[in-house]
Amino acid sequence: MNILNNIKPRKILDKIKPYSPGKPIWEVQKEFNLDNVVKLASNENPLGPSPKALDAISNFLTELNRYPDANATLLKGAIASYYSLKEQQLIIGNGADELITLLSETFLEPEDEIIVPSPSFSEYDFGANLMGAKVIPVPLGEGYQFNVEAILAHVTEQTKLVYICSPNNPTGTYLSKRQLEQLLNYLPKKVLTVFDGAYSHFATEFDYTNGLEYVDSGYPIIVLQTFSKIYGLAGVRVGFAVATEDIIQSILKVKEPFNVNTLAQVAATAAIADEKHVQASHEANKSGREQLYKAFSELGLQYTESMSNFVLVKVGAEAKYVYEQLLQKGIIVRFGGVWGLTEHVRISVGTFEENTALINALMSILQEKDLL
Ligand SMILES: *Cc1c(COP(=O)(O)O)cnc(C)c1O
Repeated sequence: MNILNNIKPRKILDKIKPYSPGKPIWEVQKEFNLDNVVKLASNENPLGPSPKALDAISNFLTELNRYPDANATLLKGAIASYYSLKEQQLIIGNGADELITLLSETFLEPEDEIIVPSPSFSEYDFGANLMGAKVIPVPLGEGYQFNVEAILAHVTEQTKLVYICSPNNPTGTYLSKRQLEQLLNYLPKKVLTVFDGAYSHFATEFDYTNGLEYVDSGYPIIVLQTFSKIYGLAGVRVGFAVATEDIIQSILKVKEPFNVNTLAQVAATAAIADEKHVQASHEANKSGREQLYKAFSELGLQYTESMSNFVLVKVGAEAKYVYEQLLQKGIIVRFGGVWGLTEHVRISVGTFEENTALINALMSILQEKDLL
């Protein structure tokens, strides 16, 4: 007997597909009986967590009988002083993922629409689907570049949120400062721009903006940041959002009181001050990206130049096969199928050694298949 014949989940949940994460290392080890597995699938920091964060975590282990600080006061203080913001302009989340859900719960009525330049991060759609709102995908332009005119052309009376992921996951392309200003200038004032800067620290172009400078400009914008990427803290789950005080106040209404655990709070507070780790991670990523570009060029593979810590590579019709063969050799990347990019894989930038292992494996797979 199926109990759910009688107890019906909400109808809109039929529309929600489970998130498909990168395969974890242990699973691939078990499946293919491998000792060494290299994971380049979830854009994690290959240098590991900030050492200062690890120290802070060890110092707080004995406090775990206590509830976390519901206001994350110390972390807010650290972020506010680092970015010269007011604490009232901040909300901390159990990862930026939670903030996307909270934003959706705060702003989306069932008749509302969100605009998502696509392909992009699937959590935006998830939040909208959860609320029964409608997702309007707007294809990125040539070379996956942002197309502000196309975005503006899809704005309707129902548009509530416009998501901008810059650098964009999975393409690595970014919205220039001038383009963001154009977007903010032309969007109706009742549309909130959600600027996801999860990868902002990896951007190297002079005309990139992380969006924070626009928070106090009078434009309706909210900026998301995470400790999962450059700070290397994906496992503890912590991110934050920055907006004007009134926007933050509304979102606080839907937040669970103890959403950010103690270890996440102390780790993030330490990590934001760990300039050395951030700098080393930035440099390692920059040279790792160059290492990958060079190899892809030599292999005759087209790639999209990335402002982020991953590279989208066009492998061709055999992309799924190549992805599976890489798995068997103990190298986890992401197949582009989830984004409708069936000829692509997305490869996170690893350490020099990890990148080398990927390049060698890729070369031998392509050679074997006579794809070179
Ligand atoms: C990884 C990522 C995040 C951050 O997620 P967390 O929940 O903070 O780990 C946010 N946005 C994008 C586009 C990402 O790729």
